[in-house]
Amino acid sequence: MSTRVALIAHDHKKDDIVKLAGEYVDTLRQCELIATGTTGSRIEAAHGLSVERMLSGPHGGDLQIGARLAEGNLDVVIFLRDPMTPQPHEPDINALVRACDVHDIPCATNISTARMILDVLTLRMKSVI
Ligand code: PGA
Repeated sequence: MSTRVALIAHDHKKDDIVKLAGEYVDTLRQCELIATGTTGSRIEAAHGLSVERMLSGPHGGDLQIGARLAEGNLDVVIFLRDPMTPQPHEPDINALVRACDVHDIPCATNISTARMILDVLTLRMKSVI
């Protein structure tokens, strides 16, 4: 079964997640990808990856991803949050990060951690580790 990865980025982080997805496009192509609406569209358009798109984050997309995770159907969350801008759906964001901790799912909230997780996925796919 391929690794199931969720990708989410707040507006000021969308360029970062698109760039990140480009760096790891070969790895991500071998994963099942799920994303919030706008993040998913941007990644699909930029890299031709197939992404299951949920609602936009402020409309419940984070909660949909959290529900998928709670059901045991998600392996990794890459969630590039914007720590400098208040978000209307802050409770949903906290719920998703909490769900990662409840279910012990790796959750990257910044690019450095995202790279570490994606590096591990890449090495696993090459059977190096
Ligand atoms: P979006 O949602 O990808 O639809 O913009 C992300 C968010 O803002 O939580």
